[in-house]
Parts: sequence; C-alpha cells; structure tokens
Amino acid sequence: MTSPLNTVILGAGPTGLAAAYELSIHGKPVDVVEKSQAVGGLSRTTELLGCQFDLGPHIFIRRNERIVNFWKLIGENQMFSLHENSKQYFRGKAFGSFSEIFLSLPVTEQASIAASFLRRSLLPKPRPSSYRDQMVNDYGDKMYSVFHEGPQKKFWGVDPGHIERKWAHRMLSRPSFLAMAKRMIHAWMNQSKKAKAKADAEPTGAGHVFFHHKNGSGHLYDHLKEITEKTGIAKFHLQSEVTGIHHQHDRITAVDTQTRDGTHAVTGEHFISTLPLNDFVGMLKPKPPQDVIDAASKLYFRDLVMVNFVVDGNPFDGQWLQIISDDLQAYRITNFRNLSDAMGRGPLCPLSVEYNCFRGDDFWRKSDAQIIELAKDELEKSGLVQTQRVVGSSVLRAKNAYPVYFIGYQDHVQTVTEYLAGFKNLQSIGRSAIYRYNNMGHAVESGLLAADHLLGRKTDVGGLDVLDGTKDIYNNV
Ligand SMILES: Cc1cc2nc3c(=O)[nH]c(=O)nc-3n(C[C@H](O)[C@H](O)[C@H](O)COP(=O)(O)OP(=O)(O)OC[C@H]3O[C@@H](n4cnc5c(N)ncnc54)[C@H](O)[C@@H]3O)c2cc1C
Repeated sequence: MTSPLNTVILGAGPTGLAAAYELSIHGKPVDVVEKSQAVGGLSRTTELLGCQFDLGPHIFIRRNERIVNFWKLIGENQMFSLHENSKQYFRGKAFGSFSEIFLSLPVTEQASIAASFLRRSLLPKPRPSSYRDQMVNDYGDKMYSVFHEGPQKKFWGVDPGHIERKWAHRMLSRPSFLAMAKRMIHAWMNQSKKAKAKADAEPTGAGHVFFHHKNGSGHLYDHLKEITEKTGIAKFHLQSEVTGIHHQHDRITAVDTQTRDGTHAVTGEHFISTLPLNDFVGMLKPKPPQDVIDAASKLYFRDLVMVNFVVDGNPFDGQWLQIISDDLQAYRITNFRNLSDAMGRGPLCPLSVEYNCFRGDDFWRKSDAQIIELAKDELEKSGLVQTQRVVGSSVLRAKNAYPVYFIGYQDHVQTVTEYLAGFKNLQSIGRSAIYRYNNMGHAVESGLLAADHLLGRKTDVGGLDVLDGTKDIYNNV
C-alpha cells in the first residue's frame, strides 16, 4: 500500500494538499489519508441542483507572493479579484455599515451608547481578563451589549466572559478614544439624506479586495489533487479514517486506517498531520504521558451546521450578511451568486444559512427537515427571501469548524505541541492541528513550508511562528 521513503499526510484539506503537491512535484512519494470521500476539508465545495456552495463564504485573502502565485498557478484562469460587499442584519433590516445601524437606533439609545462609551473610556475595568471585559473597556458596556455580546455568544457557544481577552483584538483592531468619538460624531453629522444615499451606494468593506474562485474554493483543491496525482508518485486514500497512530523511539511508525474493507496500516518515513490536535493525542499508541492526555482533553471545537438553499432568482444584494441582533438564531447568511455568478445556474441562486453549535447538542441532533424549516422561517423573518421561491435545500454538518479560545487554552496547546515536537519525523500543521484560526493562506503556506523542510530547503520548520494566525486574521474565518 505504501512506497519506500514516503511521507504520509493525514488529512486532505488545503494544508495536506499543498504539502502533497510540493513534495510530489519534487520527486518525493506521498500517501494522503483522508476520511471523507472528497478533498478540500473545510474549504470544500458542494453542489445542489447545479449550484455551488462553499462552507460559508470562502475568500482567498492575499498573504504573500508565494501564496498568491500558488493560487494563480493552481487556479488556472478561474481566480478573480473582487471587492467585499458584506452587510449586517440588525433588528429586521440589512445595513451597509455600523454607522448606518447606529443612526437607525432611537436617539435615546444612541445617547446611552455614547455616554457608556465615554464612561468606560474614563473608568476602564482594571486588568481585563476576558473578551467581554476587553470589549466593554474598548467600546463601553452599552455598545458591547447591543452589538457584540449576542453574535459572540452564538459564535462560541459559551459566555464571552470565558473567552480569551486577546480575541477582542483579533476580530477588531483596538479603537482609540478619539477614533471612536470621531466615528460617532461623523455618523451624527452625516444624517442628512444626501450623505446617507452616498453611504448606501458604497459597498461595505470596499477597502477589502480578495480573490475568489469562479466556481467555489473547493474546485481549486480538487484541481490540486488532480495535478498532484498526475505526478504518479502521490496516492490518495479517500474514505480512510485514521483511527490509531503508532510510535516508537521518538518516531511515528504507522497509522491505522478504517476503510470500508476493514483496517489497514499505512507506514512511512515522515508524517505530516493536519488532524485536530486532541484527536491526534487520543489516537497515539502507546498512550502519551497523563499531563498531555489531560491537556488535549480540555481542547474543544465549535461545530457548524450549514443549510444550503437553491432559490429561484437572486433575492438580495450583498455577498454575506452577518447577523448582529438576537432575533435570528443564524450566525451568517451567504449569497454565493454575489460572490461569483458562475456559482449559480440559470436563474437559480445558491444561499447558505450558518448555525454554530456543538456536535451532539440539541441543535446538532435536530433532523435535517427540522433544521431546514427553522432556516426557512428565519429567511422569511429576515425579509430577504420569500420562501416559496426555494426550489431545493440540503443540510451539511461540519465538525471542528472553530477552535474555542477559552481562557487558558494556550497552556494546554503548549503542553501538547511541546510533547509532539519530540517526534523526529512528525510535523503537525494546519488549522485544527495547531488549534488556531488559520485561513486558507496560512493553510497552504504551512503545507508548502512543511514540504520545504523535508526537501531540505532552509525554512522555519513547521513554521508555527511564521504562521501565527494572529498576523493577518480576517473576521470571515
Ligand atoms: C465557516 C468558515 C468560513 C471560512 N471562511 C474562510 C475564508 O473566507 N477565507 C479563508 O482563507 N479561510 C476561511 N476559512 C478557513 C479555511 O476553511 C481553513 O483555513 C482551511 O480549510 C484549513 O485547512 P486545513 O487543511 O488546515 O484543515 P481542514 O480544512 O480542516 O482539513 C483537515 C482534513 O483532515 C481530515 N481529517 C480529520 N480527521 C481525520 C481522520 N481521523 N482521518 C483522516 N482524515 C481526517 C478532514 O476530513 C479534512 O479533510 C473558513 C472556515 C470556516 C469554518
């Protein structure tokens, strides 16, 4: 089943695929082991009635020249750049910017937001320790409770008082008092109809330009698999779930894979794992020390239920709609046709509604029919889509969508990564394997860097610091 001196790559998401491609085009045999029947991981694209759906919006964020050139090469002529045009849903209406939402509030609420912002600027909470404390200090109690608390609770599934403080500045850069005061005054002064009309005409986030794949991100990764296989020295073992990882004398020796025909062992010289950090530790044979098992067992992920709808006609403007207020359970609604016309078919438009949850919770265990009904009700309630125009729907459940940044998680990650660093032939890279909000740029870069290391090129091994997800974090991921 395996070749001599091969590298075994666990997981065929963007990270694993980039590593497999780079190694095989340089003559190094690889075996890629993937539990799903398709490649692409969280960046895969699915199809319904000829329409294409990514797992939420999947935009390619410019990272560095190597990555941009890689996307252009692999994406052939299918990649194009476009401006962000996202919207925010708040209390029954879609808005183009936060200033517009602020102006839509009753004057008394506007004044209370401004007063609480001023109060916290003068009297901040000493030593803020959580996301909530930090946001309250940055924006004031009222603005935090109106705009931030609800979406963050939905996103994490835990009270933002238990979330790591630094997350506040990963999602939004820290506002200065002067900048915030200026924004509010500017919003008030621009209440005239003329100024509002101008603001409406400008797409939100017009400063953000990103790449998109004409048919959805997963098509780039399907193509990457195809050209990697063409080298003749890359084998893809799909529908093969890694269930055990054997090690001896500081080296990984083999992995057990569960396939439809039973269990197989895949052996290799080197191993690159993109599996979730906690799963990896749980599969080690023999077991690691107890403190490593304990640390890994504390790490957990937020999961995702995606409801895909095919709608007759394009129902609304904007690429995606972030849900700010609590009247909808959904976290985000995406209109893929407004990201790329080719993702629709004829008059049919692909839309998705995202629900963050934990596997096994009440939401996750609802039947597909119940979830579709709920999502339809919410679309109707949002005023965006008349559901008699829905001609098809499906539900997709994705595990390990977001590593939860609870207070203290870094210590557990460090305990596990320090232990894994002791294996001389293992690189553990990728979003879930390093428990970080890596985007596709980070993923591809970490795959290429891991391959560089095995090819003897001088780079930062595994590149954990280079690939620190804090560096160009973008709130879409
Ligand atoms: C809702 C959402 C929106 C996003 N939007 C964007 C965006 O706009 N732009 C952007 O750049 N990034 C975005 N991302 C992030 C992007 O999806 C990830 O950065 C990228 O997919 C990470 O690639 P990866 O290979 O590291 O991990 P993954 O994509 O998670 O791939 C890991 C692979 O390992 C496989 N695997 C797991 N366990 C096993 C096992 N036991 N045996 C065998 N195989 C296994 C999985 O099936 C999967 O294929 C988004 C993510 C989410 C959840």
